[in-house]
Amino acid sequence: MTQVPSARALPVKATLYRHPHGVTAVDAEYLYPGHAAAHLIVDSGRAAFVDVGTNSSVPYLLAALDELGLAPAAVDYLLLTHVHLDHAGGAGALMQHLPNARALLHPRGAPHMIDPAKLIAGSQAVYGEERFRRLYGELLPIAPERVRIVADGERVVLGGRTLELIHTPGHAQHHYVVVDPAHRSIFSGDTFGISYRALDTDQGAFITPSTVPTQFDPPQHIASIDRMLAYRPESIYLMHFSRVTDIPRLGASLKEQIAELAAIARAHATDADPAGAIRADMLALWRRLARLHGCQLADPDLEHALAGDLTLNTQGLMAWLARTGELGSKDRKAHS
Ligand SMILES: [Zn+2]
Repeated sequence: MTQVPSARALPVKATLYRHPHGVTAVDAEYLYPGHAAAHLIVDSGRAAFVDVGTNSSVPYLLAALDELGLAPAAVDYLLLTHVHLDHAGGAGALMQHLPNARALLHPRGAPHMIDPAKLIAGSQAVYGEERFRRLYGELLPIAPERVRIVADGERVVLGGRTLELIHTPGHAQHHYVVVDPAHRSIFSGDTFGISYRALDTDQGAFITPSTVPTQFDPPQHIASIDRMLAYRPESIYLMHFSRVTDIPRLGASLKEQIAELAAIARAHATDADPAGAIRADMLALWRRLARLHGCQLADPDLEHALAGDLTLNTQGLMAWLARTGELGSKDRKAHS
């Protein structure tokens, strides 16, 4: 059995962002600083993580607990919004340090955390075996008795507050978000898109949807965003990257972009190189929106900031076209 180091002895220092109502964002140090944030909610001495990053994030999350004066035993829940590995890949390893924690999962996500074999295979298909190993390492399973499967609308008590978990398909079928109605906050995983603080302007946050493989579904995604907006939240906490406000504007932009990206994908479904054309149109759309937003970054810097999302979003749109049977359909018809 490997020795579990105490948080105090850990050689890392977590980057923390303190937000209102007992919320702290912890940089999960995934890919680069400012890319992925795990959130700690603390109420009356009890704590929950919303998403946890990867195996490499674990020391930072333990250091964050230490810095906030919380014992690992104070953590009651890992609220894993969905089982994509940048969100839940480190959960099995983190659980070994948290004696009282249970992992809360969507019914479609839970089996994959108890037995990660399919998750590993699926992610290796997206990232390739070598990159997968570098990014995610060895995924540890979570013991079934430490997993709680959450129904749509299920309530969870953390210290003195009650959180509501609602199923939000569209980014992934196994996605839920965490609503904190008393504080008008929602922890959205990837359902409310991606907003890097490096792209903030005096108009506020710049936001883009995440249409990654393999379950992106435009109508479901838009319906899930509407469901979140119906709570009239003041703050939404994204994994990429943490707190945004001015929610009605961002919600409208996300819904328009999802529809636009779906239209772009459809328009190129029968091209010779659909992926190249989809990526180019997505970049043109984002460039136009960023300029309207007052973004001053030079074109290459803007493309660099969004490069990972351009690639993954294109793959997700291709997977969606393949699922709906539209990809290359004109071609197939022509030859039949
Ligand atoms: Zn993500």
